[in-house]
Amino acid sequence: MADYYDLLGVSRDADSDTLKTAYRRLARKYHPDINKEKGAEERFKEIGRAYEVLGDPQTRARYDQFGEAGLGGSAGMPDMGDMGGFADLFETFFSGFGGPSSGGARSQRRGPQQGEDLRYDLTIEFNQAVFGQEREIKIPHLETCNTCRGSGAKQGSGPVTCSTCGGAGQVRRATRTPFGSFTQVAECPSCNGTGQVISDPCGSCNGKGVDQVRKKLRINIPAGVDSGTRLRVSGEGNAGARGGSPGDLYVFLKVKNHPKLKRDGLTIHSEVTISYLQAILGDIIEVDTVDGPTSLQIPSGSQPNQVLVLENKGIPKLGNPVARGNQRVTVNIKLPSKISNQESQLLEELASIYSRKGTQNHHHKSGLFSRLFSKS
Ligand SMILES: [Zn+2]
Ligand SMILES: [Zn+2]
Repeated sequence: MADYYDLLGVSRDADSDTLKTAYRRLARKYHPDINKEKGAEERFKEIGRAYEVLGDPQTRARYDQFGEAGLGGSAGMPDMGDMGGFADLFETFFSGFGGPSSGGARSQRRGPQQGEDLRYDLTIEFNQAVFGQEREIKIPHLETCNTCRGSGAKQGSGPVTCSTCGGAGQVRRATRTPFGSFTQVAECPSCNGTGQVISDPCGSCNGKGVDQVRKKLRINIPAGVDSGTRLRVSGEGNAGARGGSPGDLYVFLKVKNHPKLKRDGLTIHSEVTISYLQAILGDIIEVDTVDGPTSLQIPSGSQPNQVLVLENKGIPKLGNPVARGNQRVTVNIKLPSKISNQESQLLEELASIYSRKGTQNHHHKSGLFSRLFSKS
């Protein structure tokens, strides 16, 4: 990945106006509707990404300090899996200024048309969201017809100039009214405004220039995604008409629940049930984490609903998986409803010790025991 400042051709201390001017100039130059050179579209997207980062003082500061690695998503921003923001940027780009290709419906219809973006919903397992995964998906989308290379015309023939409008894409209609005669301009009905018609349509796509196909794609799900995260797969939407660039595929993720672990941002919550003896005396037990069973130290004197923290066992931060949240384990203490005769004897022995000593030792460590046995 090239340096964002280099991509925009500005120095590292460029102010926001300089950045904006540079971005607009380059976006105009490499816009896929204007620039048909190979690699122009890629360049256009890179420029968009560079400006998206440098145009925002906050992300710019992080980029300056940490480079690409500093741009990981912050928690609670479900869209950070989308590493381009191209769709949003595209709209800003067109509403922001009157570029040469934003000149109305006529030029859009006649020129190449960008293919549609597509949505694909994907449900993944809890652990796959935590650690990321490469997944194969099959998506239905439109691809440029191989036989006619998108022209829609049978091999050897080509689109011919529309005879109705003479290639103008528009027809003029004169209407006589009591007030005089008016000329109306309308889209040509024979060629739908394209100025060309296909006299001999391609057999495999019926003249549409595109085919509906199911495509296998490998997508990379980054670690730390959550339900609602959108991943953009560049260029895998529908093929564009008349040689237009393809749209993008957006994969919308839904993450399944885990039977034992609950996720809250970067934190994982879980519960563990221990015996009253483990609570009083302390113990080392095994608890479930996303990394597998892990030892947890139960300190002596643990209380019901006490929360113990396993550091770094939470969710990796999207875009910066080295940073992980914690797992918070809530301790449930189970009191036995039935005990054996032997246990009963031992407990009664304890109880008698504490009924003798308990009143004097109230504020000592044994206070814990006297609380437990004060009722007997
Ligand atoms: Zn075809
Ligand atoms: Zn026509």
